Amino acid sequence: MKAIVVGAGMGGLSAAIALKQIGIEVEVYERVTENKPVGAAISVWSNGVKCLNHLGLESEAAALGGIVDTMSYLEARTGETMCRFSMQPLIDEVGQRPYPMARAELQLMLMNAYGFDDIAFGRKMVSLTETEAGVTVTFSDGSTATGDFMIGADGASSLTREYVLGGPVDRRYAGYVNFNGLVEVDEEIGAATEWTTYVGENRRVSVMPVSENRFYFFFDVPMPQGVPYERGTAREVLADEFGDWAPGVRKLIDKLDPATTNRVEILDLDPFHTWVKRRVALLGDAAHNTTPDIGQGGCSAMEDAVSLQSAFSDHPGDIDAALAAYESARTARAGDLVLRARKRCDVTHGKDPEKTAAWYAELREEDGSNILRGIVGNIIGGPLT
Ligand code: FAD
Repeated sequence: MKAIVVGAGMGGLSAAIALKQIGIEVEVYERVTENKPVGAAISVWSNGVKCLNHLGLESEAAALGGIVDTMSYLEARTGETMCRFSMQPLIDEVGQRPYPMARAELQLMLMNAYGFDDIAFGRKMVSLTETEAGVTVTFSDGSTATGDFMIGADGASSLTREYVLGGPVDRRYAGYVNFNGLVEVDEEIGAATEWTTYVGENRRVSVMPVSENRFYFFFDVPMPQGVPYERGTAREVLADEFGDWAPGVRKLIDKLDPATTNRVEILDLDPFHTWVKRRVALLGDAAHNTTPDIGQGGCSAMEDAVSLQSAFSDHPGDIDAALAAYESARTARAGDLVLRARKRCDVTHGKDPEKTAAWYAELREEDGSNILRGIVGNIIGGPLT
């Protein structure tokens, strides 16, 4: 049995490893020519880490992960602590520490685990067709690949999704732009083993540790969609937006490298429940595109991969039954995470300013238990709960 996986992001690669683990032949096709993901890092929450562990990457993932012992929220302009608490109750409850990781390193780990030299880079899928013989994908260079089934892990603007749903769908602008990158750890910005978030004025600025003494940082800035931006001008733009924020935020703006700072308009997609058409299945952002507000998009893609493996293990040799089982295991869970993220996004970014103000007031009273309960609610419910 041969699977064609299109897209070598964290979803496609996790799926490829998972299928290979159970003896299914896999070919991976990726349009870009090198490992250069958009985005500096992601927080892989405990459910995602459990998936990586399941794929045999426990020690590699731990080596890439930053250690987050505490979380804190600080007031935007003064830097005063609104709350600070330990992550240990969460780790105890779900049985796994989360790991923020540099995105390129996470991807490289997955590429190596699958077999870096076996990935067909520079192959952009332009169409797919199904016949009795299986699924045939055509690439922009005119070449083709045929498999018994195909996994479309081709991201948020998925062509496979158009095929499965019968046409394009519009994604929704979530109302803010995210600037992100990596800087050396600096205790004037945040403690080295803390996820620190400055909040106020419907915005947030965050740093969290990844390996090798670096912070993953991001700034969320509510603004209309389509505001022009020239790459390399992040420092000027952010100084303009956050110039009167706390000293730690200003230090971060001084320290960041504008050349490597990314700027992403945040979109998502209403959950949908048709992920499979005959022998073609969606996986990752192609199936469930979420805002990053609860840090679950990539984790959910990894959960998809583990569920796909279980479905084929439970239905050996029966592609139709396996893909149906995969779809039924995943759509509700993934859709729930999309909607949870949307809700969080609205509160964080002032969709209803009164609710956002009430959240700031809650943060001043918080001992950690409410926030950790919410995060645990996101983490549990996947294939490895
Ligand atoms: P992608 O990573 O987008 O990979 C898709 C791949 O398919 C790409 O390599 C692309 O080049 C390739 N491709 C596309 N079209 C074709 C084609 N036609 N032919 C061949 N190849 C093709 N998630 C978390 O879990 N935690 C976080 O903290 C987090 N933070 C985030 C912060 C931001 C700012 C953003 C935008 C997202 C964040 N996410 C986070 C979400 C996470 O990045 C995505 O959910 C994850 O990358 C999805 O993986 P994927 O493999 O499905 O898609």
